[in-house]
Amino acid sequence: MRNDQGDLVAALDFGGTKIAGALVDAGGHLLARARRPTPATEDAATVMDAVAGVLAELGRSVHWSRVRAVGIGSAGPVDASRGTVSPVNVPGWRGFPLVAEVARAVGGLPVTLVGDGVAMTAAEHWRGAARGRANALCMVVSTGVGGGLVLGGRLNPGPTGNAGHIGHISVALDGDPCPCGGRGCVERLASGPNITRRALADGWRPEPGEEASAAAVAAAARAGDAIALASFARAAQALAAGIAATAALVEIEVAVIGGGVAQAGEVLFAPLRERLRDYAALSFTSAVEVLPARLGSDAGLVGAAAAAAERRGLWGPGAGR
Ligand SMILES: [Zn+2]
Repeated sequence: MRNDQGDLVAALDFGGTKIAGALVDAGGHLLARARRPTPATEDAATVMDAVAGVLAELGRSVHWSRVRAVGIGSAGPVDASRGTVSPVNVPGWRGFPLVAEVARAVGGLPVTLVGDGVAMTAAEHWRGAARGRANALCMVVSTGVGGGLVLGGRLNPGPTGNAGHIGHISVALDGDPCPCGGRGCVERLASGPNITRRALADGWRPEPGEEASAAAVAAAARAGDAIALASFARAAQALAAGIAATAALVEIEVAVIGGGVAQAGEVLFAPLRERLRDYAALSFTSAVEVLPARLGSDAGLVGAAAAAAERRGLWGPGAGR
């Protein structure tokens, strides 16, 4: 049932492509929304102006007077202990004091920061595919690849809010350099831009008038295009290796996959489940289930709100259980 009178959290989902905002209630409903493209290549102040624009639009909602806290899920790495963010795909922000800047923009409301992968994990554990699971890896496969862990029934963000950042574990020892400084990272093989890049390099072309994107590659793969299928198969292989490594380390029972690339559906999930049988072959890893995320593109917002509400004692994944 919708709660018309309760406390709300203003949630921000900051990514390399877009900045989304919403007012979220204790039932996980989004009462107002705002959205801006991320000026990812601009300077720090210009990127912050876009965030402030989203907050200002939310501030014009009739529901704003019920907002008690702000929750931010940001592209990583983040440092939740310092309130700073350094999103790999936004070079103008390195150690950017996002918590302080947002607090100033909202008149001093308390602000909670988590990585976007941790936010998505909080959302899927609270209301989605990982609900009721004690040990889970949740992943966002999109412009980048993020993730988070539920261990022993609890969200496990780690000291700085980055634990479970599966996009930057290496699955190809001598693989391509990654913007993070590593090599052969899961993200370098499985993110949307890298699926597109690999398909283009191998000779795939979008339909006339169509933009080259992972969604276009997915459409071509569904139509049987061999190059498009191969690019998704390679992404699936990288994800399978990362999931298997995680299962061996911490005994997850389920891997939940969301983000734009997961919208490709069986084009991604079928080869992923198949390759997981190759990599997760131990007795205690072979039963890992792979499930699509349930909350779709709203997971970051719902999770950021849940993390903030729980921190501030309003409501959250721990409430009512
Ligand atoms: Zn990396």
